[in-house]
Amino acid sequence: MQTAIVWFTNDLRTDDQVALYQALQLKMPVVGVYCFDDRHFRALPLGFRKTGAFRTQFLLESVQDLQQQLKKLGIPLFIRQGKPEEALPPLAQALKAKYVLGSQEATSEEQHTQKAVAQRLTQIGCELKLYWQATLIHIDDLPYKVQLLPDIFTEFRKSVERNSKIRNTVRPKAQQTVPLELPAGVELGTLPTLKDLGVEHFQTDARSVLVFRGGETAAKSRLEEYFWEKDLLKVYKETRNGLVGADYSSKFSAWLAVGAISPRRIYEEILRYEAQRTKNESTYWLFFELLWRDYFRFIAKKYQNRLFYADGLKGNYELLGVKDDKNRFQKWINGKTGQPFVDANMIELLRTGFMSNRGRQNVASYLVKDLKVNWRWGAAYFESQLIDYEVCSNWGNWNYVAGIGNDPRENRYFNVAKQAQQYDPQGEFVKLWLNK
Ligand SMILES: Cc1cc2nc3c(=O)[nH]c(=O)nc-3n(C[C@H](O)[C@H](O)[C@H](O)COP(=O)(O)OP(=O)(O)OC[C@H]3O[C@@H](n4cnc5c(N)ncnc54)[C@H](O)[C@@H]3O)c2cc1C
Repeated sequence: MQTAIVWFTNDLRTDDQVALYQALQLKMPVVGVYCFDDRHFRALPLGFRKTGAFRTQFLLESVQDLQQQLKKLGIPLFIRQGKPEEALPPLAQALKAKYVLGSQEATSEEQHTQKAVAQRLTQIGCELKLYWQATLIHIDDLPYKVQLLPDIFTEFRKSVERNSKIRNTVRPKAQQTVPLELPAGVELGTLPTLKDLGVEHFQTDARSVLVFRGGETAAKSRLEEYFWEKDLLKVYKETRNGLVGADYSSKFSAWLAVGAISPRRIYEEILRYEAQRTKNESTYWLFFELLWRDYFRFIAKKYQNRLFYADGLKGNYELLGVKDDKNRFQKWINGKTGQPFVDANMIELLRTGFMSNRGRQNVASYLVKDLKVNWRWGAAYFESQLIDYEVCSNWGNWNYVAGIGNDPRENRYFNVAKQAQQYDPQGEFVKLWLNK
């Protein structure tokens, strides 16, 4: 009997999972696969891994939870380690897969891998079908082709608010077909450990804003807690620039990054909250921030690899006057620059894998505009360290703060000392991390 395989990547959920939903419409046995790609965990010349310990641990928990959620739908999850283009085709062949279904990507590394997988699958008569599903607004529902995306966020926002409809979520149902019998010699595979992936263990820091646990189950709990139990959505706009604790912002980013929750699920929940509790500027503002997230993904799609170029989207790198100074870079990483607000934020990132949006803007600006260090090093460090690292949001925001992206204001500069006074007037945050 022919089968369909759902290839999970940064879409580690069952709810509102379009590839999974489509697979279940095919009326053939469905299985899932997740492949831990060794290239994602390699050591970089800058002295850290492409994926660091916090993010790896969160990913492992997310895949484990996915396995449990899929089980409830009668779907086994295969786990593989290695390059997807090498691991997937033999599995597809053994399971007589007609289709492999997954999520469409916006950036080149992911697209190269998908291309390589597609080519090898074609050779064995299997087709790779990809679905756009990481954003709130579907790429086909933009009021223009993505190549014509406005370079200013406000223009984008206004145009989509006027013209684009957000598609409804989908809820895959348990599969009805006869459960698949594993052919001889085909193993489900087991979840690797941090060590298997070459990643060092870490100690959790009690000062972390939140205990981030990976997976769809934890994502739903956080949504429940933030919206309904603590009723925090109605004050989001006033609190979102905070620095300490779980409540100042949603902390949804980590789950969104691995796809443990979909932005459309959050959007539908905002609408429900507005209908049942309160509708105000704050409830709108969470939607507004999710549009920023969409925007960076569309920007990545529009500009392709320019997102990663030294001179960024605008091509004006020479304006930065940057030097490749490893000593300064290391001091920044370790929170030893001597600027307390920067150091406190960097220590938080080092010890917990998280930093507030306010913190990120300041430390990024400080690295590029004050220390004059290569912005791409900073972005690479964030990629390794952030528990919520997401390629488009990270590299897009770094372009923006470095002044080579799509910030309409020329030469935006964060006066870090002033920012500290404004956002940490009692020095509570700095004290927390520097023990002063
Ligand atoms: C230099 C720099 C690097 C960043 N790297 C990342 C990254 O790798 N991954 C990531 O998800 N965000 C990144 N951000 C954006 C932002 O800082 C985080 O999304 C936010 O701090 C996450 O916390 P939260 O979920 O509590 O946000 P909330 O304030 O609760 O916002 C809700 C959601 O809106 C989205 N959002 C909010 N602000 C932004 C923004 N500026 N850009 C894109 N989406 C946004 C996120 O999905 C977030 O979860 C970066 C920002 C900067 C300045």
